[in-house]
Amino acid sequence: LIIPEFQDFTDHIEDIYWKCKDNTNGTVASYIPQLKRMSSKYWGVSICTCDGQRYSIGDTTIPFTIQSCGKPLTYGLALDLLGDKVVHKYVGQEPSGRNFNELILDYNMKPHNPMINAGAILICALLKTTVAPEMTLAEKFDFTMNYFERLAGREDIGFNNAVFLSEREAADRNYALGFYMREHKCFPEHSNFKECMDFYFQCCSLETNCDLASVMGATLANGGICPLTEEKVLKPESVRDVLSLMHSCGMYDYSGQFAFKVGLPAKSGVSGCLLVVIPNVMGICLWSPPLDALGNSCKGVQFCEELVSRFNFHRFDNL
Ligand code: GLU
Repeated sequence: LIIPEFQDFTDHIEDIYWKCKDNTNGTVASYIPQLKRMSSKYWGVSICTCDGQRYSIGDTTIPFTIQSCGKPLTYGLALDLLGDKVVHKYVGQEPSGRNFNELILDYNMKPHNPMINAGAILICALLKTTVAPEMTLAEKFDFTMNYFERLAGREDIGFNNAVFLSEREAADRNYALGFYMREHKCFPEHSNFKECMDFYFQCCSLETNCDLASVMGATLANGGICPLTEEKVLKPESVRDVLSLMHSCGMYDYSGQFAFKVGLPAKSGVSGCLLVVIPNVMGICLWSPPLDALGNSCKGVQFCEELVSRFNFHRFDNL
C-alpha cells in the first residue's frame, strides 16, 4: 500500500479539515449569479491514492462547475492528441506574472501558458479545430466530456447549462482576449472563432464534485492511468508536462509562493475548487467557495499549507 497506515493518515486529514473549517476569510465569486448563490459554508475534502484508497469528509458529493480546474485537463488532452511540439507552437510555458485574464501575450505574441484564460482558450481552439476537425461542436463536446469521465474512473460528469449561458453572457474580457489573439494570428488555421469561444465556456461549465475530482487528480498522480479502472487515459509524457505547468502556473498570482511553500502541482478555479496532485501518491480535491484576493480558495490554500507541515509531501522535502 502507498499509505500503509491509512487510518492514521486520514485522522490527520480530518483534523486539518476541522481546523480549516473555522477559516471564514474570503468571498464567493459574484460575477455570475449561479456562483454567487453558492453557500460560503460548503467545505469538502476528498482523497484518492494511486492504489485506489479513498477518503472523503464534508461536502464531497455536492456538484460544482470545474471552471479553471479543467484547464490542466484540456491541456493534457491536447498534448496527448497533438504532441507537445504542436501544442507549444501556440502557447508558452512561462508564468505570466499577471492576472489570469489580463489582456497580454508573451514576447512571441503567444499566450504565456495554458493555465491562464488566453492559453486555455487556445487549447480549446486546438482541440476543436486541429483534433478531428470534421467533428461538430456537439461531437467535440461529447468527446471531451467522455475524456473527463475516463479521468474520473468512468463516473458521470455533468454540465451546468445555466453557468454556461451566464459565462457566455458575462464574457467581455474573454472575448477581448479572443479578439486580441485573433488579431495576432494566434489561432490555428480554419478556427471558427465563435465555436472555439463556446467550447471554452462549455469546458468551464462541466460539473463535478470533490469525490470525482480527487480521482481525476489521482489519474494525474498515477502517470495517466486511472487507479480505479486501470485505464490508460493519458500518456506519461503528457502528464509530466501538465504537472510541470500546474507546479509553476496553477495558482493564479500565488503560483510562485505556493510552489515555494507547498511544493506540489495544483490548480484552482473560481468555483472554489483546488485540485492537488502528489505525484506517485495521491490526488486531492479541496472545495470551498470563498476565495482570497488572488482567486484561490481560502480553506483550500490553508489545508495545503497545513498538510505539508505535517507530512513530507513538498517535492523538495528529504533531499
Ligand atoms: N469561467 C471563468 C473565466 O473564464 C474561469 C475563471 C477561473 O476559474 O479562473 O473567466
